[in-house]
Amino acid sequence: MSKRTWQELPKGAVSYKSSMDYKTGDWGVEAPKIDHSKCTKCMLCHFYCPEGAILVREDGYTEPDLDYCKGCGICAKECPVKCIEMVRK
Ligand code: SF4
Ligand code: SF4
Repeated sequence: MSKRTWQELPKGAVSYKSSMDYKTGDWGVEAPKIDHSKCTKCMLCHFYCPEGAILVREDGYTEPDLDYCKGCGICAKECPVKCIEMVRK
């Protein structure tokens, strides 16, 4: 049996950012709310989000993409200054 690269795997077999093919924002009951007055623009939330659903704006602040955010809360847990609050949708 020949080995395939991850790019050749069928859709659904790759979990990281695979939700970008489908709008999954309706799956969660909570969404992150960022207090930009406390944000240091470290971008850790962007790097830790398993769905690639934290966007970086032109001004350097981050913003959740609610079309794809599943509400897992990892970004809020990893934010070093705790300026992300998970709120009910
Ligand atoms: S709650 Fe989860 S999916 Fe949504 S932006 Fe934060 S880390 Fe990403
Ligand atoms: S992890 Fe927190 S401080 Fe860092 S960019 Fe995200 S919201 Fe801002």
